[in-house]
Amino acid sequence: AVRVTNLAKAYGDHVVLRDVSLEVAPGTVTALIGPSGAGKSTLLRCMNLLERPDRGQIEICSHRIDASKAISAKALAPLRRSAGMVFQHFNLFPHMTVLRNISLPQQRILGRSREEADTKSMELLARMGLADKAKQYPSRCSGGQQQRIAIARALALGPEVMLFDEPTSALDPEVGVEVLEVMKELAADGMTMIVVTHEMGFAENVSDTLVVMADGGIIEQGDPQRIMRDPQHERTRRFLRAVL
Ligand code: ATP
Ligand code: MG
Repeated sequence: AVRVTNLAKAYGDHVVLRDVSLEVAPGTVTALIGPSGAGKSTLLRCMNLLERPDRGQIEICSHRIDASKAISAKALAPLRRSAGMVFQHFNLFPHMTVLRNISLPQQRILGRSREEADTKSMELLARMGLADKAKQYPSRCSGGQQQRIAIARALALGPEVMLFDEPTSALDPEVGVEVLEVMKELAADGMTMIVVTHEMGFAENVSDTLVVMADGGIIEQGDPQRIMRDPQHERTRRFLRAVL
C-alpha cells in the first residue's frame, strides 16, 4: 500500500500541509481535487521527497521514511524510485531525443545498459503509440505527445505508484483526451495512481476514491460519485460548483 501519516509542511509560518494522512490501496486510482493553494502539489512533492516534509511518515510498499528523522541517501533513493512523477509541464530534456529522454534515467538510476534501456524505452513508446517519435526532439512533438513521453519516462523506472500533478491542464482539451486515455489504460492494468486533476469526468469515472483538500488538509474522501452527488462539506460544494 501507499500510506502517508500525519504529514506536515510549512514554508516559514505559512502552514501548507496540516497532518495529512492518506492511504491508497494497491491497484487503485485516487483523484485529488481542491481549490488553488490547498496543498495538492505540495502533498505529491512531499510524497517522493522532492520537497522535504517537516513531520510525518511516508510508506510506499516496502519503503518507509520518517520525515522527522534524518533521511539517508540510501533510504531516499528507493523511495523516490518507487514513486513516478508526472508534472503539468512535461519537463523533458529539450536537447535530447525522445528515446534518450526515456533511456538516460534508466541508465543513471537503475544502472541499465544503453541497449537494455533503449529496448525498454521502445517498448513503452510503442505502448503509447509513439514509436515513430523515438529519434525526434521533444520540441517536434505535440503537448499531448510530450506528456505521454513523460509518462513513459516515469514508467520506465518501474514505479510502485504514479503521481500525476494536473497532467492535462496545460493541454488543449482534444489533446488532453489522448493523455487521459493512456492514464485510463494504466489504471486498467492495475497501476496504483494518485492524480491531482480538474478533469471531473476522470475523477468520477476512472478514480476509485476521491480526496478533497482545502487549506492544507483533507476535508472529505470516499466514493467519487457519492461525493459529487452529495458533498458533505461546504468547501467541497463550493469547489464542485466552480468546476462543474
Ligand atoms: P494549485 O491548484 O494552484 O496547483 P495546490 O493545491 O497545488 O494549488 P500548492 O502548490 O501545494 O497548492 O501550494 C500550497 C500553498 O503553499 C500555497 O499557498 C503556495 O503559495 C505555498 N507554496 C508552495 N510552494 C511554496 C514554496 N516553495 N515556498 C513558499 N510557499 C510555497
Ligand atoms: Mg498544484
